Amino acid sequence: MPIQFTCPHCGERTEVSEQFAGQTGPCRQCGQTVTLPHFGAAVAPQAQASHNYGVACPRCGSRSHRSGPWPWYLGTIGAIFVSARLCNACGHEFDARKPQADFTKRKFNLALLINGFGGLGIVTVMVLLGWLFYVTMK
Ligand SMILES: [Zn+2]
Ligand SMILES: [Zn+2]
Repeated sequence: MPIQFTCPHCGERTEVSEQFAGQTGPCRQCGQTVTLPHFGAAVAPQAQASHNYGVACPRCGSRSHRSGPWPWYLGTIGAIFVSARLCNACGHEFDARKPQADFTKRKFNLALLINGFGGLGIVTVMVLLGWLFYVTMK
C-alpha cells in the first residue's frame, strides 16, 4: 500500500511504496534530503524540517543544522550511506550518519564505489550479450 508523503521543503506531494518507509533520500522535485515517515504515522512537515538526528556538529557542537546540499552524483543509493547536514552555527558540512568522518573524502569514496558498481554492471551486460551472440551463432 502506498504512503502519501508531502515534501517539507517544496510541498511536493508524492505517493511512495510502503517498503521505503523510514528511509532518507532526495526529493524528486527539489532534490533536498527528506525522510519518509513510517507507515501509518501522521506527517508533520514542521517536525520533519527541524529534525536534527540528535547529532551535534563535529566542529562547533551545535545541534542546530539543516539538510545540506545533496551530492547528486551519489544518486538514490548514496542516500542509504550519507545524510548531508549543514550546520546553522558555523556552516560546516557533515554526514549525520558519520559526523567525525571527513565528509569530502567520504563523498568522493562513495562516488567511486557507486559509479564503479554501475560500470561493472555495464561490463557484465556486454559480456553476457557477447556470449549469447556467440552461442546463438554457432
Ligand atoms: Zn521537495
Ligand atoms: Zn557547527
